[in-house]
Amino acid sequence: MKIICASFQCESNSRAKTHPQKYDFEYFKGEDIFKKLVVKDVFEKAGYEVVPAIYAVALPAGTVEKDIYFCYAEEIIETVKENSDADGIYIFFHGSMEVEEIGSGELYLLKEIRKIVSEKCVISLTMDAHANITDELCNYADIVCGFKTVPHTDQAESQLRAANCLIKALKSGEKPIMYIQRVPFLLKNDTLLTREEPLKTLIEETLCLEQQESIYSANLFLGHCWIDAPNTSASTVVCAANEETAKSVAKNLANKLWATRKIYRFKIEAESVEKSVELALMGKENRIFVTDSGDNTTAGAEGESTEMLELFLKSNTEKRICVAGITDPELVEAFWDKKDGEEVFVNKFGKKATVKSHGNILGWGKELIGRSLCLSFGNIDAVFAEKRCAFIEKRNFDEARVDLLSYEVVTVKLGYLFQELKPFADREIFALSMGASCVELEKLGLKKIIRPMYPLDEFEWEA
Ligand SMILES: [Zn+2]
Repeated sequence: MKIICASFQCESNSRAKTHPQKYDFEYFKGEDIFKKLVVKDVFEKAGYEVVPAIYAVALPAGTVEKDIYFCYAEEIIETVKENSDADGIYIFFHGSMEVEEIGSGELYLLKEIRKIVSEKCVISLTMDAHANITDELCNYADIVCGFKTVPHTDQAESQLRAANCLIKALKSGEKPIMYIQRVPFLLKNDTLLTREEPLKTLIEETLCLEQQESIYSANLFLGHCWIDAPNTSASTVVCAANEETAKSVAKNLANKLWATRKIYRFKIEAESVEKSVELALMGKENRIFVTDSGDNTTAGAEGESTEMLELFLKSNTEKRICVAGITDPELVEAFWDKKDGEEVFVNKFGKKATVKSHGNILGWGKELIGRSLCLSFGNIDAVFAEKRCAFIEKRNFDEARVDLLSYEVVTVKLGYLFQELKPFADREIFALSMGASCVELEKLGLKKIIRPMYPLDEFEWEA
């Protein structure tokens, strides 16, 4: 009795111009994948042999190029071919991987896997709450367990739920039925938080439903608006012992989710870039964070925008300011040989600056991935990075050799601040900037999504 385990994830952003490269994927093979996946013990305790394939996970980026996709997809397919007698397959996906010329990377892989294994083989998935579920997913997978938290804190629990569902199906000999109900809304991801109402209550309801013997999983997927594709939208997905239950529960959840569509609001100050800069400069708090949400590298954007830095430079403020994590490999290279304290002239701003510090940037797995250079424009420091990166915790500043605690205003390329930065922020302002991760739906120019779609269209709907 054996179960194959794998993970392949990259949240795509069709507006981002940088496609993930092979080195962007954190990669493990064989037993090492269980440094990242927590399902091994559960399967082994239930008496199954566990066959590891690969773990390949990248920071969100542009769509995945075909050759990069196949590098990893083929490794998983190979493992399945070598173990085509597997009783079950467990895969941890993101659910919003868009592959050039292929579309949903998850769907393609599942189709290939189903060509190899029998119908009896139970396929169970974990997916991010922002997955764009394809209608066909139910033809190739049996169970899906999505995260129940946004921001995500239950990745481990979601893996364990999917693993336990897989064991339950195998032990009972039952083949769960998956019902997918598309919900035609697409909202600003950053307004949908599960610790707030109405999602808090809806998520609690899914947990209650999952207590029922006939229901394997009940999920709300909120969709991911930065992919322009027909499967981009929210959905509810229910996996149950019979079709009737799966269908009625999914429809009921979908109607409840739809009914909440007009309620979602930002829970923090969300303002235009100019207003955000103005508020940060006027604010009396010890340290104010401003997030450049349209250029959010954790949502696939490039992190190249200097719009906010330039506004600070023009302001003549005396506040101590840091703009962290601007992707600019040319600038880092051009000034890398300068010593700390040396003066340089930065053409793109037409200004002199002083080299403040040479440092490092961290990748998604917290490994060192490149160099950073901090330039001081008087009281305003800018940290330039030679690769796209995200300043999500104090350690990023430490590695870049800048003292986070010395600043009164800090700009990072995020949407909401990561939990790890919150203790350092006396106030948080969400700047509604343009860019690949712009949160203003009407400005995204989505052409391939299904219509009508709320809030782009105003219409009545019922599942
Ligand atoms: Zn997500």
